[in-house]
Amino acid sequence: MYKRVLLKLSGEALSGNGQPFDPEVLKSLAAELKDVHELGVDLAIVVGGGNFIRGKMMAEMGMNRAQADYMGMLGTVINALAVQNALEQAGVPTRVQTAVEMQKVAEPFILRRAIRHLEKGRIVIFGAGTGSPYFSTDTTAALRASEIDADVILMAKNGVDGVYDSDPKKNPEAKKFNSLHYMDVLNKGLQVMDSTAISMCMDNDIDLVVFNMNEKGNILKAVKQEVTGTLISK
Ligand code: UDP
Repeated sequence: MYKRVLLKLSGEALSGNGQPFDPEVLKSLAAELKDVHELGVDLAIVVGGGNFIRGKMMAEMGMNRAQADYMGMLGTVINALAVQNALEQAGVPTRVQTAVEMQKVAEPFILRRAIRHLEKGRIVIFGAGTGSPYFSTDTTAALRASEIDADVILMAKNGVDGVYDSDPKKNPEAKKFNSLHYMDVLNKGLQVMDSTAISMCMDNDIDLVVFNMNEKGNILKAVKQEVTGTLISK
């Protein structure tokens, strides 16, 4: 079993029925995270914001990129608060830390304090990405996992159970990889994370497990190293 994990949740993992949030999705996510918490595992979460806005996409439609990215970062904070609320309703102690300071709603990101929360058994949710435009929450996951010295990044995907050599939704012949090296991901141009995030994981020797979170109980299985997914390492 892993001792300290960084779970990356995309914004879309929280959405449903065409809405940014689906209360049922949040509820069942919180129930799963509660099971993980009860194992005594240190759990930190980086949330994305794709259910609201992706800066790059908005820039392609004419918006200023940095401005759009700040909007994206604010979206991740909304998601962080939604996850916190769901966890608290499930009776799990949490703290949200944001990389863009907004102390009325959450603590600022302070590494030592984040580690202290983990040691005290609180789930720490990181919002606002890295705090800088031109980055993604995947890169944030790589950065925070390095900082908190996590054993692994658990990359929860919606409906895809690992990394394939082509898009399994478009190509029924697509082949799944059980394990990969970061170099293969970069050389083959596999769609796992953006290349900045992949390089960061590779340089800092962080393992990554890509798995399907839509199957109930899979987050717990991933923590116990029992999930069927793709393991990526150096
Ligand atoms: N973002 C950013 N800097 C960061 C992290 C995120 O500017 O360090 C912005 C960026 O615009 C990104 C958006 O926040 O598109 C939402 O994050 P992301 O696309 O990674 O969310 P996900 O796809 O995981 O839901």
